[in-house]
Amino acid sequence: MAKEPRTARRERIGRPAAGQGGKPPHGGPRDLVDGPLPAPLRAGSEAIQAALLGWFKRVGRDLPWRRGTDPYRTWISEVMLQQTQVDRVVDFFLRFMERFPTVTQLAAAPEADVLRAWEGLGYYRRARQLHAAAKRIVADHGGRLPDTAAGLRELPGIGRYTAGAIASIAFDRPEPIVEANSRRVLARLAAHAAPLIGTTGDGPIWEIATALLPARRAGLWNQALMDLGAMICTPRNPLCPRCPLADHCLALATGRVGAIPAATPRRTVIELEETAVVVRRGSKVLVVRRGAGEWWEGLWDFPRLPAAEILAPLGCGRRRVVGHCTYSVTHHRVAVTVSVCAASRQGLRRDDLEWVDGESLGALAMTAPGRRIAALSRGAGVAGGRGAGAPRPRRG
Ligand code: SF4
Repeated sequence: MAKEPRTARRERIGRPAAGQGGKPPHGGPRDLVDGPLPAPLRAGSEAIQAALLGWFKRVGRDLPWRRGTDPYRTWISEVMLQQTQVDRVVDFFLRFMERFPTVTQLAAAPEADVLRAWEGLGYYRRARQLHAAAKRIVADHGGRLPDTAAGLRELPGIGRYTAGAIASIAFDRPEPIVEANSRRVLARLAAHAAPLIGTTGDGPIWEIATALLPARRAGLWNQALMDLGAMICTPRNPLCPRCPLADHCLALATGRVGAIPAATPRRTVIELEETAVVVRRGSKVLVVRRGAGEWWEGLWDFPRLPAAEILAPLGCGRRRVVGHCTYSVTHHRVAVTVSVCAASRQGLRRDDLEWVDGESLGALAMTAPGRRIAALSRGAGVAGGRGAGAPRPRRG
Protein backbone atom coordinates (compact mmCIF):
# COMPACT_ATOMS: atom_id res chain seq x y z
CA MET A 1 0.00 0.00 0.00
CA ALA A 2 1.37 3.38 -0.98
CA LYS A 3 1.79 5.71 1.97
CA GLU A 4 0.33 9.18 1.83
CA PRO A 5 2.62 12.10 2.54
CA ARG A 6 1.98 13.10 6.15
CA THR A 7 1.38 16.76 5.24
CA ALA A 8 -1.41 15.78 2.86
CA ARG A 9 -3.10 13.75 5.57
CA ARG A 10 -2.83 16.59 8.09
CA GLU A 11 -4.62 18.94 5.72
CA ARG A 12 -7.42 16.48 5.18
CA ILE A 13 -8.07 15.69 8.80
CA GLY A 14 -7.18 18.93 10.46
CA ARG A 15 -9.13 21.56 8.58
CA PRO A 16 -12.75 22.05 7.72
CA ALA A 17 -13.48 21.87 4.01
CA ALA A 18 -13.65 25.19 2.21
CA GLY A 19 -16.81 26.98 3.11
CA GLN A 20 -17.63 24.58 5.97
CA GLY A 21 -15.72 26.21 8.81
CA GLY A 22 -18.69 27.96 10.44
CA LYS A 23 -21.23 25.18 10.01
CA PRO A 24 -22.89 23.43 12.92
CA PRO A 25 -21.67 19.88 13.70
CA HIS A 26 -24.35 18.20 11.60
CA GLY A 27 -25.11 19.74 8.25
CA GLY A 28 -27.57 18.86 5.50
CA PRO A 29 -27.92 15.57 3.62
CA ARG A 30 -25.12 16.40 1.18
CA ASP A 31 -22.69 16.60 4.09
CA LEU A 32 -23.34 12.97 4.87
CA VAL A 33 -22.16 11.64 1.53
CA ASP A 34 -19.62 14.15 0.21
CA GLY A 35 -16.16 12.55 -0.09
CA PRO A 36 -14.64 9.81 2.06
CA LEU A 37 -15.13 11.82 5.23
CA PRO A 38 -18.41 13.66 5.73
CA ALA A 39 -17.87 17.38 6.35
CA PRO A 40 -19.00 17.31 10.00
CA LEU A 41 -16.35 14.69 10.74
CA ARG A 42 -13.71 16.64 8.82
CA ALA A 43 -14.54 19.67 10.91
CA GLY A 44 -14.44 17.71 14.14
CA SER A 45 -11.62 15.29 13.44
CA GLU A 46 -9.20 16.68 16.02
CA ALA A 47 -11.90 16.69 18.70
CA ILE A 48 -12.82 13.12 17.72
CA GLN A 49 -9.21 11.99 18.01
CA ALA A 50 -8.79 13.67 21.39
CA ALA A 51 -12.05 12.25 22.75
CA LEU A 52 -11.31 8.69 21.69
CA LEU A 53 -7.67 8.69 22.77
CA GLY A 54 -8.65 10.16 26.14
CA TRP A 55 -11.31 7.48 26.61
CA PHE A 56 -8.84 4.74 25.63
CA LYS A 57 -6.31 5.99 28.13
CA ARG A 58 -8.92 5.75 30.89
CA VAL A 59 -10.67 2.48 30.06
CA GLY A 60 -8.78 0.66 27.29
CA ARG A 61 -8.50 -3.09 27.81
CA ASP A 62 -5.40 -4.45 29.54
CA LEU A 63 -4.38 -7.29 27.22
CA PRO A 64 -1.14 -9.29 27.48
CA TRP A 65 0.11 -8.32 24.01
CA ARG A 66 -0.35 -4.65 24.84
CA ARG A 67 2.27 -4.75 27.57
CA GLY A 68 5.13 -3.30 25.55
CA THR A 69 5.46 -2.86 21.81
CA ASP A 70 7.45 -5.95 20.83
CA PRO A 71 6.59 -6.37 17.12
CA TYR A 72 6.72 -10.16 17.44
CA ARG A 73 4.07 -10.17 20.19
CA THR A 74 1.93 -7.72 18.25
CA TRP A 75 2.16 -9.88 15.15
CA ILE A 76 1.28 -13.14 16.92
CA SER A 77 -1.68 -11.54 18.69
CA GLU A 78 -3.01 -9.94 15.51
CA VAL A 79 -2.88 -13.21 13.61
CA MET A 80 -4.62 -15.02 16.47
CA LEU A 81 -7.27 -12.32 16.65
CA GLN A 82 -8.27 -12.87 13.04
CA GLN A 83 -11.48 -14.93 13.31
CA THR A 84 -11.11 -15.53 17.06
CA GLN A 85 -12.58 -13.59 20.00
CA VAL A 86 -10.24 -11.69 22.31
CA ASP A 87 -11.31 -13.64 25.41
CA ARG A 88 -10.38 -16.92 23.77
CA VAL A 89 -7.11 -15.62 22.37
CA VAL A 90 -5.60 -14.54 25.73
CA ASP A 91 -4.79 -18.05 27.00
CA PHE A 92 -3.65 -19.27 23.58
CA PHE A 93 -1.40 -16.25 23.23
CA LEU A 94 0.25 -16.77 26.63
CA ARG A 95 0.85 -20.46 25.92
CA PHE A 96 2.17 -19.76 22.44
CA MET A 97 4.59 -17.13 23.72
CA GLU A 98 5.81 -19.52 26.39
CA ARG A 99 6.40 -22.19 23.75
CA PHE A 100 7.86 -19.84 21.08
CA PRO A 101 9.15 -16.72 22.87
CA THR A 102 11.01 -15.32 19.85
CA VAL A 103 10.64 -15.31 16.11
CA THR A 104 13.88 -17.29 15.87
CA GLN A 105 12.47 -20.07 18.04
CA LEU A 106 9.26 -20.10 16.05
CA ALA A 107 11.19 -20.35 12.76
CA ALA A 108 13.31 -23.22 14.08
CA ALA A 109 10.37 -25.31 15.31
CA PRO A 110 8.96 -28.21 13.29
CA GLU A 111 5.66 -27.31 11.62
CA ALA A 112 3.90 -30.08 13.56
CA ASP A 113 4.82 -28.34 16.84
CA VAL A 114 3.44 -25.02 15.60
CA LEU A 115 0.19 -26.68 14.49
CA ARG A 116 -0.04 -28.44 17.86
CA ALA A 117 0.34 -25.11 19.68
CA TRP A 118 -2.34 -23.65 17.42
CA GLU A 119 -4.81 -26.41 18.12
CA GLY A 120 -8.15 -25.02 19.28
CA LEU A 121 -7.77 -21.71 17.43
CA GLY A 122 -8.85 -23.19 14.11
CA TYR A 123 -8.01 -21.81 10.67
CA TYR A 124 -4.70 -23.67 10.62
CA ARG A 125 -3.65 -21.93 7.45
CA ARG A 126 -2.86 -18.98 9.70
CA ALA A 127 -0.42 -21.10 11.71
CA ARG A 128 1.30 -22.42 8.60
CA GLN A 129 1.69 -18.95 7.16
CA LEU A 130 2.93 -17.64 10.51
CA HIS A 131 5.58 -20.33 10.52
CA ALA A 132 6.56 -19.62 6.91
CA ALA A 133 6.76 -15.88 7.65
CA ALA A 134 8.95 -16.51 10.72
CA LYS A 135 11.40 -18.41 8.52
CA ARG A 136 11.47 -15.54 6.03
CA ILE A 137 12.01 -12.99 8.80
CA VAL A 138 14.99 -14.96 10.09
CA ALA A 139 16.41 -15.71 6.64
CA ASP A 140 15.85 -12.35 4.95
CA HIS A 141 15.52 -9.77 7.75
CA GLY A 142 17.99 -10.92 10.39
CA GLY A 143 15.20 -11.98 12.75
CA ARG A 144 13.52 -8.55 12.84
CA LEU A 145 10.07 -7.83 11.49
CA PRO A 146 10.01 -5.22 8.70
CA ASP A 147 8.98 -1.87 10.18
CA THR A 148 6.71 -0.65 7.38
CA ALA A 149 3.31 -1.85 6.25
CA ALA A 150 4.64 -2.39 2.72
CA GLY A 151 7.53 -4.52 4.02
CA LEU A 152 5.23 -6.52 6.28
CA ARG A 153 2.85 -7.25 3.43
CA GLU A 154 5.65 -9.08 1.63
CA LEU A 155 5.43 -11.81 4.26
CA PRO A 156 3.11 -14.82 4.00
CA GLY A 157 -0.25 -14.36 5.69
CA ILE A 158 0.09 -10.62 6.32
CA GLY A 159 -2.57 -8.61 4.53
CA ARG A 160 -3.61 -5.00 4.68
CA TYR A 161 -5.19 -5.17 8.12
CA THR A 162 -2.41 -7.10 9.87
CA ALA A 163 0.31 -4.98 8.25
CA GLY A 164 -1.43 -1.78 9.35
CA ALA A 165 -1.91 -3.10 12.88
CA ILE A 166 1.73 -4.14 13.33
CA ALA A 167 3.14 -1.03 11.64
CA SER A 168 1.00 1.35 13.69
CA ILE A 169 1.10 -0.43 17.07
CA ALA A 170 4.68 -1.66 17.12
CA PHE A 171 6.39 0.98 14.94
CA ASP A 172 4.11 4.01 15.39
CA ARG A 173 3.58 4.29 11.64
CA PRO A 174 0.53 6.31 10.54
CA GLU A 175 -1.30 3.32 9.06
CA PRO A 176 -5.07 2.77 9.34
CA ILE A 177 -6.76 -0.53 10.09
CA VAL A 178 -10.21 -1.88 9.37
CA GLU A 179 -11.44 -4.99 11.18
CA ALA A 180 -14.82 -6.05 12.53
CA ASN A 181 -15.00 -3.62 15.46
CA SER A 182 -13.43 -0.54 13.90
CA ARG A 183 -15.45 -1.13 10.71
CA ARG A 184 -18.68 -0.87 12.67
CA VAL A 185 -17.57 2.21 14.62
CA LEU A 186 -16.41 4.04 11.49
CA ALA A 187 -19.52 3.13 9.50
CA ARG A 188 -21.75 4.51 12.27
CA LEU A 189 -19.63 7.54 12.93
CA ALA A 190 -19.81 8.52 9.25
CA ALA A 191 -23.38 7.19 8.76
CA HIS A 192 -22.06 5.00 5.96
CA ALA A 193 -25.19 2.97 5.22
CA ALA A 194 -24.01 0.90 2.23
CA PRO A 195 -23.47 -2.84 2.80
CA LEU A 196 -19.96 -3.74 3.92
CA ILE A 197 -19.48 -7.00 2.09
CA GLY A 198 -16.00 -8.24 1.22
CA THR A 199 -13.05 -6.09 0.35
CA THR A 200 -15.03 -4.05 -2.21
CA GLY A 201 -17.59 -3.06 0.37
CA ASP A 202 -14.80 -2.15 2.77
CA GLY A 203 -13.24 0.36 0.36
CA PRO A 204 -15.08 3.45 1.63
CA ILE A 205 -14.42 2.42 5.25
CA TRP A 206 -10.69 2.24 4.56
CA GLU A 207 -10.92 5.75 3.14
CA ILE A 208 -12.73 6.97 6.24
CA ALA A 209 -10.18 5.22 8.47
CA THR A 210 -7.33 6.84 6.55
CA ALA A 211 -8.89 10.28 6.65
CA LEU A 212 -9.55 10.15 10.40
CA LEU A 213 -6.16 8.72 11.35
CA PRO A 214 -4.07 10.97 13.59
CA ALA A 215 -0.59 11.72 12.27
CA ARG A 216 0.91 10.51 15.55
CA ARG A 217 -0.16 7.80 18.00
CA ALA A 218 -1.88 5.90 15.18
CA GLY A 219 -1.32 2.63 17.04
CA LEU A 220 -3.17 3.88 20.10
CA TRP A 221 -5.89 5.31 17.90
CA ASN A 222 -6.36 2.00 16.10
CA GLN A 223 -6.51 0.06 19.35
CA ALA A 224 -8.96 2.61 20.75
CA LEU A 225 -11.26 2.15 17.76
CA MET A 226 -11.19 -1.61 18.25
CA ASP A 227 -11.91 -1.28 21.97
CA LEU A 228 -14.74 1.15 21.38
CA GLY A 229 -16.34 -1.32 18.96
CA ALA A 230 -15.89 -4.20 21.42
CA MET A 231 -17.01 -2.38 24.57
CA ILE A 232 -19.40 0.43 23.59
CA CYS A 233 -20.32 0.46 19.90
CA THR A 234 -21.40 -3.18 19.95
CA PRO A 235 -23.32 -4.82 17.08
CA ARG A 236 -26.57 -4.82 19.09
CA ASN A 237 -27.66 -2.28 21.67
CA PRO A 238 -24.63 0.01 21.51
CA LEU A 239 -24.11 2.11 24.64
CA CYS A 240 -24.37 5.49 22.92
CA PRO A 241 -24.97 7.49 26.12
CA ARG A 242 -21.55 6.30 27.34
CA CYS A 243 -19.77 6.78 24.03
CA PRO A 244 -16.95 9.36 23.86
CA LEU A 245 -17.86 9.99 20.20
CA ALA A 246 -21.59 10.51 20.71
CA ASP A 247 -21.36 14.26 19.99
CA HIS A 248 -19.85 13.53 16.58
CA CYS A 249 -21.68 10.37 15.52
CA LEU A 250 -23.75 10.89 12.38
CA ALA A 251 -25.66 7.61 12.74
CA LEU A 252 -26.77 8.73 16.19
CA ALA A 253 -27.60 12.24 14.99
CA THR A 254 -29.74 10.89 12.18
CA GLY A 255 -31.41 8.09 14.14
CA ARG A 256 -29.84 5.29 12.11
CA VAL A 257 -27.68 3.47 14.64
CA GLY A 258 -29.78 0.30 14.38
CA ALA A 259 -29.58 0.29 10.58
CA ILE A 260 -25.80 0.73 10.27
CA PRO A 261 -23.87 -1.26 9.30
CA ALA A 262 -26.33 -2.68 6.77
CA ALA A 263 -27.14 -6.31 7.47
CA THR A 264 -25.27 -8.78 5.29
CA PRO A 265 -27.16 -11.83 4.05
CA ARG A 266 -26.33 -14.95 6.05
CA ARG A 267 -24.92 -17.91 4.17
CA THR A 268 -27.15 -20.96 4.17
CA VAL A 269 -25.85 -23.66 6.48
CA ILE A 270 -25.17 -26.91 4.66
CA GLU A 271 -25.88 -30.07 6.64
CA LEU A 272 -23.58 -33.03 6.02
CA GLU A 273 -23.27 -36.52 7.46
CA GLU A 274 -20.22 -38.74 7.67
CA THR A 275 -19.01 -41.89 9.37
CA ALA A 276 -15.63 -41.95 11.09
CA VAL A 277 -13.85 -45.25 11.63
CA VAL A 278 -11.51 -45.85 14.54
CA VAL A 279 -9.44 -48.82 13.40
CA ARG A 280 -7.80 -50.67 16.28
CA ARG A 281 -4.82 -53.03 16.18
CA GLY A 282 -3.67 -54.16 19.62
CA SER A 283 -3.25 -51.05 21.78
CA LYS A 284 -2.92 -48.73 18.78
CA VAL A 285 -5.35 -46.91 16.52
CA LEU A 286 -4.96 -45.71 12.96
CA VAL A 287 -4.87 -41.98 12.16
CA VAL A 288 -4.72 -40.32 8.78
CA ARG A 289 -3.28 -36.91 7.95
CA ARG A 290 -5.63 -34.54 6.13
CA GLY A 291 -4.45 -33.89 2.60
CA ALA A 292 -3.94 -30.76 0.50
CA GLY A 293 -7.16 -28.85 -0.08
CA GLU A 294 -9.03 -30.59 2.73
CA TRP A 295 -10.30 -28.84 5.84
CA TRP A 296 -7.56 -28.96 8.51
CA GLU A 297 -4.89 -29.75 5.93
CA GLY A 298 -1.86 -31.37 7.56
CA LEU A 299 -3.60 -32.30 10.81
CA TRP A 300 -4.33 -35.82 11.97
CA ASP A 301 -7.80 -37.35 12.11
CA PHE A 302 -9.57 -40.70 11.77
CA PRO A 303 -10.55 -42.13 8.38
CA ARG A 304 -14.04 -41.42 7.05
CA LEU A 305 -16.07 -43.90 5.04
CA PRO A 306 -15.87 -45.15 2.39
CA ALA A 307 -12.03 -45.13 2.73
CA ALA A 308 -11.94 -48.53 1.03
CA GLU A 309 -8.34 -47.92 -0.06
CA ILE A 310 -7.37 -47.76 3.62
CA LEU A 311 -9.74 -50.25 5.23
CA ALA A 312 -9.65 -53.09 2.69
CA PRO A 313 -5.89 -53.81 3.00
CA LEU A 314 -6.27 -53.83 6.79
CA GLY A 315 -8.74 -56.69 6.73
CA CYS A 316 -11.16 -54.81 8.99
CA GLY A 317 -13.93 -56.85 10.54
CA ARG A 318 -17.42 -55.72 11.46
CA ARG A 319 -17.84 -52.13 12.53
CA ARG A 320 -19.56 -51.19 15.77
CA VAL A 321 -21.12 -47.75 16.31
CA VAL A 322 -19.95 -46.18 19.60
CA GLY A 323 -21.47 -42.71 19.43
CA HIS A 324 -22.27 -39.55 17.54
CA CYS A 325 -20.97 -35.99 17.54
CA THR A 326 -21.28 -32.85 15.45
CA TYR A 327 -18.96 -30.09 14.38
CA SER A 328 -19.19 -26.92 12.34
CA VAL A 329 -16.69 -25.70 9.80
CA THR A 330 -17.15 -22.64 7.57
CA HIS A 331 -20.87 -22.74 6.76
CA HIS A 332 -21.20 -26.50 7.11
CA ARG A 333 -22.60 -28.44 10.04
CA VAL A 334 -21.46 -32.05 10.04
CA ALA A 335 -23.07 -34.93 11.95
CA VAL A 336 -20.57 -37.71 12.58
CA THR A 337 -21.31 -41.34 13.38
CA VAL A 338 -18.32 -42.83 15.16
CA SER A 339 -17.64 -46.51 14.60
CA VAL A 340 -14.82 -48.82 15.60
CA CYS A 341 -13.41 -51.96 14.03
CA ALA A 342 -10.43 -54.24 14.46
CA ALA A 343 -7.73 -54.66 11.81
CA SER A 344 -6.40 -58.13 11.17
CA ARG A 345 -3.44 -57.01 9.08
CA GLN A 346 -0.82 -54.25 9.29
CA GLY A 347 -1.91 -52.97 5.89
CA LEU A 348 -0.30 -50.17 3.96
CA ARG A 349 2.74 -48.08 4.65
CA ARG A 350 1.96 -44.51 3.73
CA ASP A 351 3.31 -41.18 4.97
CA ASP A 352 -0.19 -40.00 5.76
CA LEU A 353 -1.07 -43.03 7.93
CA GLU A 354 0.18 -43.77 11.45
CA TRP A 355 -0.53 -46.34 14.13
CA VAL A 356 -0.44 -44.53 17.47
CA ASP A 357 -1.06 -45.40 21.09
CA GLY A 358 -3.01 -43.23 23.52
CA GLU A 359 -0.01 -41.20 24.65
CA SER A 360 1.06 -40.38 21.07
CA LEU A 361 -2.51 -39.55 20.09
CA GLY A 362 -2.68 -36.92 22.81
CA ALA A 363 0.52 -35.30 21.52
CA LEU A 364 -0.47 -35.22 17.82
CA ALA A 365 -1.64 -32.06 16.06
CA MET A 366 -5.19 -33.21 15.55
CA THR A 367 -8.39 -31.78 14.11
CA ALA A 368 -11.14 -30.70 16.51
CA PRO A 369 -13.50 -33.47 15.26
CA GLY A 370 -10.62 -35.94 15.60
CA ARG A 371 -10.29 -35.05 19.29
CA ARG A 372 -14.01 -35.60 19.82
CA ILE A 373 -13.92 -38.92 18.00
CA ALA A 374 -10.93 -39.97 20.09
CA ALA A 375 -12.79 -39.04 23.28
CA LEU A 376 -15.90 -40.97 22.20
CA SER A 377 -13.97 -44.07 21.27
CA ARG A 378 -11.95 -43.84 24.49
CA GLY A 379 -15.24 -43.80 26.38
CA ALA A 380 -16.08 -47.02 24.55
CA GLY A 381 -12.80 -48.59 25.61
CA VAL A 382 -10.98 -48.01 22.31
CA ALA A 383 -8.46 -45.39 21.10
CA GLY A 384 -5.47 -46.45 23.11
CA GLY A 385 -6.71 -45.85 26.62
CA ARG A 386 -5.14 -43.33 28.97
CA GLY A 387 -4.15 -40.01 27.43
CA ALA A 388 -5.89 -40.44 24.09
CA GLY A 389 -7.47 -37.27 22.90
CA ALA A 390 -6.23 -35.32 25.89
CA PRO A 391 -4.34 -32.10 25.31
CA ARG A 392 -0.61 -32.24 25.87
CA PRO A 393 0.15 -31.24 29.47
CA ARG A 394 1.10 -27.59 29.88
CA ARG A 395 4.60 -26.83 30.95
CA GLY A 396 5.29 -25.27 34.32
S1 SF4 B 1 -22.64 7.16 19.45
FE1 SF4 B 1 -23.39 5.07 19.45
S2 SF4 B 1 -23.40 4.42 17.31
FE2 SF4 B 1 -22.16 6.28 17.45
S3 SF4 B 1 -20.05 5.51 17.64
FE3 SF4 B 1 -20.85 5.86 19.71
S4 SF4 B 1 -21.72 3.89 20.36
FE4 SF4 B 1 -21.41 3.81 18.13
